[in-house]
Order: sequence, then structure tokens, then C-alpha cells
Amino acid sequence: MPTNTESESRKLLGRLRDTMAEDAAGQARLDKITHLTADSMGTEVCSIYLFRDPETLELCATQGLKPEAVHQTRMKLGEGLVGRVARTGKTINSADAPKERGFRYMPETGEEIYSSFLGVPIQRLGSKLGVLVVQSKQVRQFTSDEVYALEVVAMVLAEMSELGAFVGEGAALKARHTQSMLFRGGTGQEGSAMGNAWLHEPRVVVTNLVSDDPDSELKRLNAAVDQLRVSVDQMLAGAGGESAEGEHIQVLEAYRMFANSKGWMRRMEEDIARGLSAEAAVEKEQSTARARMAQVNDAYLRERLHDLDDLSNRLLRILTGQGRQTGAELPENPILIARNIGPAELLEYNRKLKGVVLEEGSVGSHAAIVARALAIPLVIHAERITNEALNGDQILVDGDQGVVHLRPDETVVSAFRDKMEMQAKAQERYGSIRDTPCVSADGVRMNLMMNAGLMADLPSLEDSGAEGVGLFRTELQFLIRNKMPRRTELADLYTRVLDAAKGKRVIFRTLDIGSDKVLPYMKSLDEPNPALGWRAIRVALDRPGVMRMQLQALVRAANGRPLTIMFPFIAQYEEYARAREEVGKVLARERRLGHAVPEKLEVGTMLETPSLAFASQRFFEEVEFLSIGGNDLKQFFFAADRENEMVRRRYDTLNVSFLSFIGDIVARCESTKTPLSFCGEDAGRPIEALCLAAIGLRSLSMRPASVGPVKSLLMRYSLKEVRDVIEEAKLRGEQSVRQSVMDYLRDNA
Ligand code: PEP
Ligand code: MG
Repeated sequence: MPTNTESESRKLLGRLRDTMAEDAAGQARLDKITHLTADSMGTEVCSIYLFRDPETLELCATQGLKPEAVHQTRMKLGEGLVGRVARTGKTINSADAPKERGFRYMPETGEEIYSSFLGVPIQRLGSKLGVLVVQSKQVRQFTSDEVYALEVVAMVLAEMSELGAFVGEGAALKARHTQSMLFRGGTGQEGSAMGNAWLHEPRVVVTNLVSDDPDSELKRLNAAVDQLRVSVDQMLAGAGGESAEGEHIQVLEAYRMFANSKGWMRRMEEDIARGLSAEAAVEKEQSTARARMAQVNDAYLRERLHDLDDLSNRLLRILTGQGRQTGAELPENPILIARNIGPAELLEYNRKLKGVVLEEGSVGSHAAIVARALAIPLVIHAERITNEALNGDQILVDGDQGVVHLRPDETVVSAFRDKMEMQAKAQERYGSIRDTPCVSADGVRMNLMMNAGLMADLPSLEDSGAEGVGLFRTELQFLIRNKMPRRTELADLYTRVLDAAKGKRVIFRTLDIGSDKVLPYMKSLDEPNPALGWRAIRVALDRPGVMRMQLQALVRAANGRPLTIMFPFIAQYEEYARAREEVGKVLARERRLGHAVPEKLEVGTMLETPSLAFASQRFFEEVEFLSIGGNDLKQFFFAADRENEMVRRRYDTLNVSFLSFIGDIVARCESTKTPLSFCGEDAGRPIEALCLAAIGLRSLSMRPASVGPVKSLLMRYSLKEVRDVIEEAKLRGEQSVRQSVMDYLRDNA
């Protein structure tokens, strides 16, 4: 740019805007932009390279290089200077390009005569789109003002491409958000779903990129930032009340820091002075932060960049007036897409959703628990999906593989449809045995129950054919609220659960918090090993108020009907005895107050710590029933964290040591006639369930969708024969019985 003034920059941006407004084909627009940019920058060459595929760049338009090279010259990511700008996302400014490391000229372009080179990345919100280059014969270093000006042009180019400005015949660039994409994440909840994308946080679309009235844009920016600061202060004040601690506050403090950051404001003001609109300036900063986010490994810094990203979104919403309520209607078969989502927000969608895809999340997260309760597939760690999906896009969710297909090709759709049809047929088969009692081929009666935790689960009791609720996780009601539920609220809920169960048995497990289940309104401890920490019954016995309130709510809800209560995480007899005593006290009090007490009351415990398997004979005689919590028991048995992807699948449930351990628990319970069940996730996996039945378990509790498949398998095989297969595998010294059992099932299919 000869004069390097801000007004020159504004003139160029104004021309770009006009180009955008013209009714021209994509290629014509790209050509015009190279022409305008070279003219404005005073260089002989301006070229636009765009990605053809994630590894290849293509020269898509040029002013100054040989026109025949357009759409012919290609380079790999990292190849030559252009490839290097694309790979690193960093600008290269060189007075003597041929001397630069990695320089490689493309003879067909005729570029060998140009000495100076300035290349900047074209990127938008962390997505790399291409490289914008200017070259000149004169040996000179471009000034920082010129670099800056070219970066602004690149940003406008990226935005224009987002708006579909370069689509059309001849242009290499396909409109973004039209290509099919595959995301490999992790399984949060199994199952398959086919539907249409629904963004929990709709993306803000910036359409006015350029402005020739910097003063009014500055005013808009300042007003919006003021509004943002006020809202952050209000959030902080609001959060400062009952629960002024924890991460929540830290995040808000970080927000406040950014909202008052001088550097952030200054950069945006400079962008506006050069001709960007206020929202384009915000988005440019956001893009820079996203590009940095992709490169930093430090967890703390990444979190802060995330905060900045959130804040930018808020600012964009203020500036554009585009709120969360866009007026768009939930599409048919909606599949929710979000970076992360809280359990309450997820529940608000009710049973409408067919699936959920998250960029973050974990198997044990509250959202995963809710997705499980709603029996919808959930894929977690689908990186960048919130950037790529648009409301209404077709989307296939494969929760079994942890894979998501966005805007899939027809062949993928039809293969997926076949898979879903097969699964639906299998479901039909299960439906036909729904009301048949589960009896194995050798005549053993099995009791199949379901796990639940929300009212939303209860309709499955009838549909699945489960004989009752073997585990009702009461903590979900505490997790989805932002304050402690009251006794009457809980009593109402438990009443509805018992009503919906229509006399079938429901085993209510008292509050199991701590570890991965942290209540937002309770002071959370910073524990080095929360899974081994102050959780579940340990909290309940140290601070008995909440458990007493819960026990009262249960007794009131039963209102004279039979009631079953189970305590979580009991590790030794004394904990059980003290918890049992609390039940006694509550009953006596309720009686005194004139409330009905249950006609039949059973009190049992979970068996989740190896220690309890070795408890005294007295414990086994006194406790009215036991339920093995295989999720926790297995993590402690193998010392392998159930939440840690690196180790959670490392040890097989059908490992001989683990099965022998469970076999010993079965034997102890048989000797004292203590009813025993198994309610961890493994009970819902057909092969595992068959083996558990073979070693003597007679009651299994699982997610509702598993009841059909488990029942169908159990009814086809003889438990005695499977037991023999297991014993033989043990004698042969196998580490896991899985292979032997699979071989047996195949040979006897
Ligand atoms: C278990 O540990 O197996 C169990 C059923 O409890 P939770 O998964 O709620 O910890
Ligand atoms: Mg547990």
C-alpha cells in the first residue's frame, strides 16, 4: 500500500464489500479480489491459495502470475513458503524469498522473478481455509502496517467464503458447511440415531464485515462491551450468594479479566479503524484465540482461551442482536450438538432428542447420565463439531463406535439405515418375549431389573419388560438442580416413581455424591483421589441431615406401601449398622408424627468395595440384600479408574480373577441366604450377563434397553454348560474366559 494509511485500508475493504455485493460468479469475485489487493498494496502479484482437501492447497486466483497456472498449481501442506504458512498458521514476510528455508518455486507460475513475498493464512474461527500472498520484484521487507492490512483482507476473505461468496462453477472452493464430514469421538452412551442437527448455542453469523464509519463502529463496540461488563458483573454478583466458591467463580473472574483487558480492546479498535465492522473485529480476535487454542497444550491456558471464546460469543450476540432464541424451530428427529451441556439443560429438551453429540464431556459426566436415562446415543469428544454443523444438517450418530457423520453421502446413509433396521428388527424380537419370564435353557429363573434415576426412565419399566427397578440412583435429582431439593419435592417425586412402578419393586439407593458426582451448591473439597475420598455413605454419616431428610421423604412417599432402601459405598459393617440405625430413628419419628410407615421395609447395601466381600458373617446375616456395584467394584479390584480412558477398558470383566472374586461373594451370600444382585453396567452386556448368571447370580439390574438382548441370550443357553466352559477355561489357566465362552456360543448357536 503506497501510503499505508488507515483510510487506504478502508478503501480496499470498501471495494471488497462492493465485490461481495455484485452479482458475480465465485471465480470472478476471487479474481477481482486479487486484482484489487495487488493494486492497493502496490505489488505486482496477489494470489489466493485455497485448500482442496485437508492436505492440498490449490492456486485459485491470481493477479500477476501466469493465468494458466490457476487451478493447476497445487502444493502439499508444508511444501514451499505457501505450504508453510498454511501449516503453521503464521505469516511469512521475506524480502528475498528464494533464500528462505523451504522455498520452492513453481515454474508454471512464472514466479521466479519476484523477490519479496508476504503470505498470510486465511482462517476462520480455527479452521484453515488457505493462504493469501502478495509478491513483488522489488527487494523489500513489507512493513508491519502492510502485514496487518493483508491480514485484515484475509479475514474478510474467510468471512466471505463462509457466506458462500466463492461458490460456483470454476471456483475450487466448495461452500463450507456443505461437505460431508466424519468425527471420531468417544462413546458416551451406546445406540444409533439418524436425524437433523440442532445447535444448543446457535452460531452467530456476521454479515456486515466492513464499515466506512469507524466512529460509529467504535461507539457500537464500546456500548456492547459496557453491556457485557455489566452482565458479567451481574453474573458474579448472582454467583456470589449461596455458593460463592469453586470453579464457577473462577470462570466468571476470568471473564471479568478479559472484559476489562486493554490489549483485547486495543486490537479490536485498531481493526475498526482499518475498516472492519465492530462484529468483524470481535470475530477476528476470536479467530486468533482459536488458532492459539489449537496450539497450546497447557490445560489452564486452554481453559482461559475457551473463556475468551465464550466472551466473544456473548459480545457477538449483543452486537448482532442474535440471541439464543433465533426463532428457528427444532427440526424433526433433532440431534443436539453442543460443546458441553449441563444435566438440567439436557432434561429440558425432554424426550424430544434422538441423540446428543458433545465436543467435551466424559462417560461419567452428568450429561452422560441423563443421556443414559433418556436412552439416547451420546458421542463425546467430537472435536470442532459446533463449528461445522448447521441447524438442520443431516447427521448420523453411532454411539457404539463413538462416530458421527455430518452431512453424510448417500452410501453412508443407506449403510447406516440398514444397520438401524437390523437393530430395530432385533428390538421387535425382544418385544415378543417382553412378558415372558426369563428362564434359561436349563430351567433357571432369572430376575431382570432395570436401573433408573429420573422420572423420565419410568415409562421404560413397562416397555422393557423389566421386573422392577433394581437401582434407582437418587443423586440425579440433586444434580440437576441448582439448589438442594426440599423434602416435599423429593417426597412428591418418589411418590410418582412408586405410582408409575405399579407395585413392582423399586430399590431406592440413598444419595451417592462425591467422586464424579459433585453437587453445584455444596462446597466441593479439593481431594487428590475423589473416587477414594469423602463420598456417598461417608458424607451421609458425617453430615446426616441430608440423608435423614431423604429417608423421611422416602417413608412419606411410600405412605404405607412396601419400601426398599439401599445404601451406597458401604465398606465395613459399622457403616451399615449406623445407616440402619438412622432408618430406625426416622421410622420412629414418622410414627410419632402420625405418618404411615411401610407395610414391608427392606434395607440393603451396595457391594462396591472389595473390603465388604470379606466383612464378618454377622454383616451377611443382618443385611437384607446386597447388590454388587460392578462399576466401582471393578475399578477398585483392578485399581483402574473407571473414568480414565487410558485404563478403563484395560481389564476384562470376564478376567478369571474378577469372576472368581464374584463367585466367592455368591458363595458367601448363598451360605447366609442373603439375596444378591448385580447392578453395574456389565449386567447389561449380554455375554457378561450370561457369565454372571452362570456363576450364580440370579438377579441382574441394567439399563432398560439391555433387558431384551440379555433376556434373549439367557433364554437360549444352559447356565450349567456355560459354567462348565468357565471352569475349564480357568483350569487351562486362561486370563479371561471371554474367548472360550464366545467359542461355545458360536458352536451352539
Ligand atoms: C456401580 O458402582 O456399579 C454402581 C451401580 O453405582 P454407580 O455407577 O452409580 O457408581
Ligand atoms: Mg458405584
